[in-house]
Amino acid sequence: MMHHDLTVPSILERAGKYFPRKQVVTRVPGGVHRMSYEKLRQRTCQLANVLEGLGVRSGDRVATFAWNTHRHMEAYWAAPSMGAVAHTVNIRLAPDDLIHIINHAGDQVLLIDEDLVPIVEAVADKLQTVEHYIVMSDESTVSTNLRAAQSYESLMERASTSFKSPILDEHSPAGLCYTSATTGRPKGVMYSHRAIYLHTMMQCMTDFIGLSERDVVLAVVPMFHANCWGVPFSSAMVGADQVLPGVRPDPQAICELIESERVTVALGVPTIWVGVLDHVQRSTRKYDLSSLRLVVSGGSTVPISLIEAYEKVLGVPLLHAYGMTESTPVVSVANLKSHMHQLPDAQKMQIRAKQGPTLPGLDMKVVDESGNQLLWDGQQQGELLLKGPWIASEYYNDPRTAETFIDGWYHTGDVVNVDEDGYIQIVDRTKDIIKSGGEWISSVDLESAIIAHPEVLEAAVIAIPHVRWQERPLACVVPKEGSQGTLTEDEVLHHLEGKFARWWLPDAVVFLDEIPKTSVGKYDKKLLRDRFHQYVPNSSESI
Ligand code: ADP
Repeated sequence: MMHHDLTVPSILERAGKYFPRKQVVTRVPGGVHRMSYEKLRQRTCQLANVLEGLGVRSGDRVATFAWNTHRHMEAYWAAPSMGAVAHTVNIRLAPDDLIHIINHAGDQVLLIDEDLVPIVEAVADKLQTVEHYIVMSDESTVSTNLRAAQSYESLMERASTSFKSPILDEHSPAGLCYTSATTGRPKGVMYSHRAIYLHTMMQCMTDFIGLSERDVVLAVVPMFHANCWGVPFSSAMVGADQVLPGVRPDPQAICELIESERVTVALGVPTIWVGVLDHVQRSTRKYDLSSLRLVVSGGSTVPISLIEAYEKVLGVPLLHAYGMTESTPVVSVANLKSHMHQLPDAQKMQIRAKQGPTLPGLDMKVVDESGNQLLWDGQQQGELLLKGPWIASEYYNDPRTAETFIDGWYHTGDVVNVDEDGYIQIVDRTKDIIKSGGEWISSVDLESAIIAHPEVLEAAVIAIPHVRWQERPLACVVPKEGSQGTLTEDEVLHHLEGKFARWWLPDAVVFLDEIPKTSVGKYDKKLLRDRFHQYVPNSSESI
């Protein structure tokens, strides 16, 4: 066979040729901005010329600091087209982490959304490698104290719309993303052209996310979170329209976009879908969301009650996807196999709430603490190990590589079991599991059960220290509007009784206005643990 490199720019090139009129639609103040794939391709060429003019060369890092917008999309394609690396910086990182990752990545250019400029201004004197700050807005002028800042549009105006990509090695880097790092500094993962290309192909397969040219795809997941779950690439590969939710999308904006753009597939973390559902149920405005054929939820476990509610209230399947920054990111998706369709509804729901079988091309195994491989019996639980063409083999320039990538396997830090059908089920993250008297309690299972209570909006269960049992579960619960002040601890505990062994039940329930979220919208359990580490429940000897 011929050697043929699998490269990122070839995806957009094809989209421009075969689907020139399909669109990238961005939510902007007062409406939407529309751009065809043909135009996206031209603007990508212009941006590549701009970057080359600024001195960016093969292997250099071009960073973005942006919402999901069309200019961010242009950068996603332009950097890899010229052999450079698109580094998508998480806009919600703490200033110290921001400084650390930009310096660590050695970013040369920083493309910044206009409204985010003040965040960069506040740290700019500590950024050691950035030579060019480019402000992304409709204006051709900039007002900022960032050194030698330039306007994106004024640079683009002068640039040619044709650009010839250099010959690219498929193993060369195309993208860089840092984990949001719940502990320690964020770790960088470099994606090769080949990894992105193969991931894109597999993600599009019918039995996985199954995108097609007929789709209109809304990525609510930020473009800086784990490669935007690969959606900009897979949508372009199949020629689907893409909808980008722009600056600070809230549930109302998401519903309006789905309605007006006739979105068919929408992707985001569970907290987004909890918020959207709550909005739909409480809003006096009735939305027509009938265009939706699929909602994809990933990033943390999706409770069964949420899958059920989407089916019942919106009539749309909620597909559970699992992945991580280290895996480009999709690992598995929980579609039912044909023989499962005959099962009773409750059983089908339980399977759909698992993380599912891995995408073709990936290898996995589950091991106990001594490294022994465990059976696929749906019972034995251990850490999930992965390998494959889009699984990272190291952290970028980081000694922590040695702790996580061992003997060719990526150690996920996720405790799972796998059933006879090969469906992964996450029991917990190693760092979140509650170790009570030498036994494990899954915070995930407790949360899913608590959130099924009709008066509960959000629930996070964390470990609190205990003299006798080492750790005990504490449930942090946000009641729905209308139940604040009325939902009681006893009611929550009563709701759990019979569903779990007695010793699994939380020692206490605390009611909060909101569960703190990480920079990518997951429950921030580290923060909760810090906040409640001295909490003493009334009934601490009750088990
Ligand atoms: P961070 O580690 O900062 O949260 P990632 O998004 O890369 O950033 O996190 C990946 C981790 O998120 C996985 O290792 C797993 O623990 C969790 N995760 C992702 N998807 C799911 C899912 N569908 N169900 C349960 N946990 C998930």
